[in-house]
This record gives sequence, C-alpha cells and structure tokens, in this order.
Amino acid sequence: MHYTSTRDAKKSFNSADVIKAGISPDGGLFLPEYIPKMSKSQLQHMIDKDYRGRASDIMQMFLTDFKEQEIGAMISTAYHPAKFDDELIAPLRQLNQNTHILELWHGPTCAFKDMALQVLPHLLVRSAQKTGDASTFVILVATSGDTGKAALEGFADVSGTRIIVFYPEQGVSTMQKLQMITQKGDNVAVIGVAGNFDDAQTGVKAIFNDRGFNERLSERSIKLSSANSINWGRLLPQIVYYVSAYVDLVKSGHIKMGEKVNVVVPTGNFGNILAAYYAREMGIPIGKLICASNANKVLTDFIRTGVYDRRRDLKKTISPSMDILVSSNLERLLFELYNRDDHKIRQMMQLLMEKGVYQIDTPVLEKLQSIFYANYADDYATMKSIKITYDKYHYVVDTHTAVGLKVLEDYRKETGDETIAVVASTASPYKFPKSVLSALNVPIEADQDEFSLLEILSDISRLAIPDSLKKLKGAEIRHKTVCKKDEMKETVANTLSV
Ligand SMILES: *Cc1c(COP(=O)(O)O)cnc(C)c1O
Repeated sequence: MHYTSTRDAKKSFNSADVIKAGISPDGGLFLPEYIPKMSKSQLQHMIDKDYRGRASDIMQMFLTDFKEQEIGAMISTAYHPAKFDDELIAPLRQLNQNTHILELWHGPTCAFKDMALQVLPHLLVRSAQKTGDASTFVILVATSGDTGKAALEGFADVSGTRIIVFYPEQGVSTMQKLQMITQKGDNVAVIGVAGNFDDAQTGVKAIFNDRGFNERLSERSIKLSSANSINWGRLLPQIVYYVSAYVDLVKSGHIKMGEKVNVVVPTGNFGNILAAYYAREMGIPIGKLICASNANKVLTDFIRTGVYDRRRDLKKTISPSMDILVSSNLERLLFELYNRDDHKIRQMMQLLMEKGVYQIDTPVLEKLQSIFYANYADDYATMKSIKITYDKYHYVVDTHTAVGLKVLEDYRKETGDETIAVVASTASPYKFPKSVLSALNVPIEADQDEFSLLEILSDISRLAIPDSLKKLKGAEIRHKTVCKKDEMKETVANTLSV
C-alpha cells in the first residue's frame, strides 16, 4: 500500500518513508491511498485472537512493505505484559446497560498515548533499516504533559535513536513533571523551558525549520524526527483498539456481529477520534462518532456550524491534554470529506494560517454531521460528571474521560439515541489526583503531598495505584536542566555535542 499527502494527492510514498519523515515535505499530512475494508468473516476471525494478534492483523493491512514476522515482533515487544498492567491491554469495563468504558491507560505512563508510543519507536527503527538509512534519529518533543513521558518510555534505550523532551517548567502537573525528570535511559534528555507550552512548541518548530542547523546535524548523520500525533505511525496503532473493542463486545455477547455501536472520544488534536473514524471506514459497524471537547470548544463549534475559528484565547482547564485550539489531524478528515481534493485543503490551511479561520461547504458539513456529533463540558460540568459517575457506579474516571461521559449524556438527551456506546477512557484518574479528589468533595490541603493523594484516591476507588506512579516516590531526579525559551537550539546542540 502506498501513501499520499493531504496537500499533494499526486505524490506517492511507501510506508517506511512516511514513518521516518512524520510530515510531508509540502507541509501536508500523510495518509494511505485507500482504506482497506474488513469483512464480517475477518472480524469474526479476530474473536479468538488476543490484542497482539488483532494488532498484527490490522497493521499488516496498512504496512504491506513490512513482513508479517517483523510486525509480529514489534507488536510483541510493544504490548508486552511487562509494560501493560492488564493482560487484555485495552480492556472494556461495563458501566451500565448501554455504556462501556474502553480503558486505554494500562500502559507504562497511565495515558492512552502509550498505545501508540510503545509501537512508534520500533516502527521508526525498522523503517530506517528497510531504507538503508544509518542515521541516528533524534526525536524532539514539546509536551504539555502526557506525550513527553509516553515518548520517553517508548524511546528510552532504543538503539539508533535519542530523544529530547522540552516541557514548560511551571506548566505541567506535579505527577507529570516527576514522571519526566526521573526518566532513565542513556539516550534521553528532559529539559524544562522557562515559559509556557506555546513557547516550548514554538522553539521546537523553529529547530525543525532551521535549515542550517539541520544541515549541521546531517553532516554528523543525525536526523530530527517527531513523535507528535501527526505521524502516521502514531495513528495506525490507535485504529486497533476500536476494532478490538468491537470484537470484544461481540465476544461477550453484548452485541451481535454487525450491530452498530457509537463511539465517544475526549478530543484535543483530533488524533484519537480520527483513528475511530478510520475503523468505521474499514467497515467496523460504528454509528455516530461523538467528539467531546472541554471549554476550548473549537471543534464543537466547527462540527455544529462548519466554521473553524481559532481566534480565541486558550483556556487552562482541568483536562489539560485537551487544551488546544488547532487540531492538526482534522486536516486528514477534511481531505477525505472533500474526496481527496488537495487544492481545497491547501486553500483552507492557508486561511487558517493567515486569518485563523475557514469555512467548509454545506454538502461537506452535512456529510460531517451525518458521521460526527459534537459537544463540550466546561470544568464545572467535568467535575460533576466525575462525581455522578462515582455515585452511580463506584467507578472513578479522570478529568478527560469525564468530559466524554458528559457529552455522551448530552447526545442521548438531544437525540434519544440509546445505542450501545463505547467511551474512550484516555487517562488513569491517578494522573490527576487533585482535580479528581476535589470533584469527589474530598477535602485536601493546597500543599498536600502528591503521594498521599494517591493513597486517598486508592481508598475511594478501590483501584490499585499503578506501580509506575508509586515508584516515583523517592526516585532519583536525573534531569535538572532548565533553559530560557531562546536557548533551546543551543541546548539541543549541547546535548548532541554538535
Ligand atoms: C492526548 C490526550 C487527549 C487528546 O487526544 P487527541 O488524540 O489529541 O485528540 C485526551 N486525553 C488525554 C488524557 C490525552 O493525553
């Protein structure tokens, strides 16, 4: 199978090059030339396979230039029992008659980013080998919290790679910061930036675009690469869990093969929900895709009106991994909805860059609305959703998943559609203990020790504290470097000794 770019549909790439490059030279995003379809009997066949087997089958359909064995080997390492604390990898948990939670946070960093970032490093290394590329790949990441740690865990000690993560020194949660600055590995660097997430992101983009600097690196056989969700190698592993969840619901007898389910996704950069869309395109019987936003509701407005307007202030919320105004992966969906009209995409992306706003045509809006429903929850509604879910079901959800549950409730009220819904649960509640405990009306001190919060949460939820978080207590701080926002390039140069 070949791949093309959203901004030049005449181009054709193989999967190894797509994974190595991350983003197309024309500024567009890579996507497959067609979406392979799965028949009912293929789905039926998956019922008796475990998560790894299902992942291998699906990834093979998209990575035809990789051998079956190669894919199998990558999957076994990535979804190894030593890395995931649930043998099902992405287990479903039934909340009530028609609501199932898809727990995507059983990996090493307790957020769904692990599902893809445990695979991506292997994909990258194999892609380099396939193309006879002996470069050292340096992964540069700017993170608002979850991506940085998940990328560090994925790339630590992977030979042929190095990883440098920049995080806003004052802008991540205590747990997230501890997770990063205690990271082990001979090829990792974690650097605080005196600034906010935008400063870190801008700095990283400037390094990627600095031609002279990249040439200097290239003379030393170093290539910069990205672990951001615009990389196809991150999207592909995410398709798997939607297929797997469907198959599990058939297996457990909750649905009959062919029966439709709705899917709810707490959304930021539009990567996770796009993977669900691809699963639907592959033929998985998904009815509505329900897009849930926090108070940064650009996507809600877009799906309801057809106008994408980023001209507003970014709000800091209690679901920080969804605090985003430009959802990059939307470009891929637009390309599909416009029947792969690259000219149209270039126009709209130009408008977004120059004016901060664009509008889609009415027929395309109608198509969009026939597939997607969108709504949002502000912080107050999010807290209420955590409390209600706990009171009704004795199940504790994190702040992002709570946004999804609230929007599902809105959807059902608005449409009367009570179809079985799968809600993507994107993080463990233990990653955001302060917000979760205050939602549950547990009195806590402003300066209370983070680890005592985990203990309190564990008493309430009767869920074991994830080992990876427990181990952070007293762990050695390995990364203390902080740089100014205009020193990031220099810091990268020093780290790489170039
Ligand atoms: C990254 C993230 C999201 C948003 O996912 P996208 O693929 O960017 O839409 C939601 N919840 C959590 C916990 C995350 O880490």
